[in-house]
Amino acid sequence: AAKADGRGVHRFYSDDMLAGAKSRKQLEDDLRIAVTEGAFHLCYQPVVSTKSTRIVGYEALIRWNHPTRGPVSPADFIPIAEECGLIEAIGTWVLRTACNAAARWPADVRVAVNVSPIQFANPALPALVTSALAQSGLPANRLELEITEGVFLDESASSDQMFKALKGIGVRLALDDFGTGYSSLGYLRTAPFDKIKIDQSFVKGAAEPGNRNAAIIKAIVMLADTLGMETTAEGVELQDEIALVRDLGCSHIQGYVYGRPVLNEVVMEQLSTAAGVATAAGFKTSRAP
Ligand code: C2E
Ligand code: MG
Ligand code: MG
Ligand code: MG
Repeated sequence: AAKADGRGVHRFYSDDMLAGAKSRKQLEDDLRIAVTEGAFHLCYQPVVSTKSTRIVGYEALIRWNHPTRGPVSPADFIPIAEECGLIEAIGTWVLRTACNAAARWPADVRVAVNVSPIQFANPALPALVTSALAQSGLPANRLELEITEGVFLDESASSDQMFKALKGIGVRLALDDFGTGYSSLGYLRTAPFDKIKIDQSFVKGAAEPGNRNAAIIKAIVMLADTLGMETTAEGVELQDEIALVRDLGCSHIQGYVYGRPVLNEVVMEQLSTAAGVATAAGFKTSRAP
């Protein structure tokens, strides 16, 4: 809370701000209840290879249906969970649930799980990952952990050790939302990422003539290629963007153009239909939202 509120401390609090603080406190209380009651579920969004146009994995994305507010975005409640100490419980549930689901998918389909910088700073994370894999039977190389540049804010050597421990287990590591954080690029020298996820803000508009995002995507892909890392273009919504990011060399695509996040039962259907396994594009026509 200190970081978010810091800038406003010299101002008088308006009624609006007080109302905001109150509803924020309410949300925090509701989140606590949601954790004890297990009120979350996961959706999974397909990740497609630009080479084969097949679904090679899914990203697990948490969902919370608030009893009165309806669906609350993880972009809103994950930061609150991080600040009020609930992210460990939530993150543990996400990891175990995603591994259990993916263990029943075909053997060439991976699952990606978002890991908060707070979880990443916890020395207990490798043991949790090992346990989630053992309990579910999911092979380590089918689990990809997504972390953001936020983990490099704390420059202690402990992140080095965490990277080593996780790579030692055999899971894959992806750098999420690349280009939006506190990028210094220096960490790319040593951090053992298997993949860079190019943030959707660079994909938006990239296929329009003269748009400079394409140049940025190209540069990121060149950097990743040189470092031996794969690249996923996030937030691809248009057919034109598929062609563009493929031509710019991105190895993977994730976005509404191929599929929105869906429940595991829909994933199972997508993966079991013969046409579904072959081309993700099939989902676009058959499962448009
Ligand atoms: P993210 O990890 O970068 O996930 C991608 C987000 O982009 C998802 O939003 C997804 O639904 C959205 N997205 C995918 N394709 C498109 C597209 O074509 N167009 C647009 N406009 N959006 C697209 P979502 O599910 O709302 O999640 C938001 C963020 O919340 C995630 O960003 C991630 O940072 C966080 N988050 C979600 N689930 C978890 C979780 O289980 N644990 C943690 N720690 N964070 C999570
Ligand atoms: Mg992610
Ligand atoms: Mg992302
Ligand atoms: Mg994001």
